[in-house]
Amino acid sequence: MEPDELLSFDRNHLWHPYTAIGAEEPVYPVVSARGVRLTLADGRELIDGMASWWCAIHGYNHPALNEAMNQQITNMSHVMFGGLTHEPAIKLGKLLLEITPEPLQAIFYADSGSVSVEAALKMAVQYQQARGNSQRSRFLTVRGGYHGDTTGAMSVSDPENGMHQLFRDMLHEQIYAPRPVCRFHEPWDQNDFNAMEDLMETHQHEIAAIIIEPIAQGAGGMWFYHPEYLRQLRQLCDRHHVLMIFDEIATGFGRTGELFAMQHADVVPDILCLGKALTGGTMTMAAVMTTMNVAQTINQ
Ligand code: PMP
Repeated sequence: MEPDELLSFDRNHLWHPYTAIGAEEPVYPVVSARGVRLTLADGRELIDGMASWWCAIHGYNHPALNEAMNQQITNMSHVMFGGLTHEPAIKLGKLLLEITPEPLQAIFYADSGSVSVEAALKMAVQYQQARGNSQRSRFLTVRGGYHGDTTGAMSVSDPENGMHQLFRDMLHEQIYAPRPVCRFHEPWDQNDFNAMEDLMETHQHEIAAIIIEPIAQGAGGMWFYHPEYLRQLRQLCDRHHVLMIFDEIATGFGRTGELFAMQHADVVPDILCLGKALTGGTMTMAAVMTTMNVAQTINQ
């Protein structure tokens, strides 16, 4: 097909994220990608500073990733994980245990960041149910967050911005604290935590977990906040028997200077979501990690 034909089909039939069908915004036809560069159909090159929404952290067409992908696909591309297992999944699990904090010992694989957030939310609710707290089924979070576009993930994302407010009537209403104001390098201001503390006091009996992007809110404007916020949040969760979920789908694998953003605060969550860079942008996949306490409480 000629480039004009491709673009005309695209415009008439393909729906791009956060746009309408037939939208006026241009889309650029990519024919290949290498390193940080995308090559367009007309030969122009673009530097993809966004790394495909922060996924392709090793660059496009990386020889080591290509080699691993090729080898695996000639052996088997995919088998269901229900009742079956395989060495690649086990090796990945071992590696994840090595590079994440020691308490996180149980891994649930998921097929996208949003789905991993759904799994994390469900884990938290199941955990509370198993402990006889079935009234604890809501989530506390901060404004300015983004956790994905599936229904549960939308409900814990910022309630005002983006398209989520269109769906407000179908979403569970969660509890939203103001976004942390104190920036990463500023002196800590204790006032920054007051609203969070008050909301926890008021709603503790209905809260299953807190979910937050540690240190940096990505889609919410690359908003870097103070690590002390997370240290105090950990203590607040422990005091009120509320689980803590870290969404490191965007921040994981070195995006904030530490391998994981939680390391800036030296805080370990009860549940951790990883995605995006997990596969270097070669395929969509995510992982939810949790403690043996959470996993075994659910399974008891
Ligand atoms: N959480 C965060 C922090 C994200 O940045 C994103 C994606 N931008 C998601 C969740 C959703 O991940 P996915 O697009 O793989 O569903």
